[in-house]
Amino acid sequence: MPEALDEKILSLLQNSEGGSMLQSALSRALDLGSKELTRSLAKLEKRGIVKRKPFKDGGRRGYQIILLRKRPKVDLKDVVWTSCLTCPDIERCGKGQPVSPEMCSKLTAAVRSEYSRLLALGEIKDAH
Ligand code: SF4
Repeated sequence: MPEALDEKILSLLQNSEGGSMLQSALSRALDLGSKELTRSLAKLEKRGIVKRKPFKDGGRRGYQIILLRKRPKVDLKDVVWTSCLTCPDIERCGKGQPVSPEMCSKLTAAVRSEYSRLLALGEIKDAH
């Protein structure tokens, strides 16, 4: 699944020092051949998420993969209101699954409640 691979690549880069890794190190970490990895990296580069910079170390050539857009780390206190944190179904919940965030009444209720709370505090404005 290409999206899952993209997520794994971005997660490795996000957690690497300086947000960059050699393509060969990514390949080893993902236990993946260069063809599939190159295809995903080309796609991520086209979307402006990573940059491939030619790399030369003695006789070795390769690419350094640089994450251009680091995702902000989520602070637990910012998401503690979600129903997902204590949900018994979290292991089997996912996009396209029988149990999913798109169809979840618990999550909908939690989002509405948080929206109302932030509205009452004046931290957000009503979108309507
Ligand atoms: S979206 Fe709903 S079912 Fe899925 S983990 Fe969150 S609360 Fe549970």
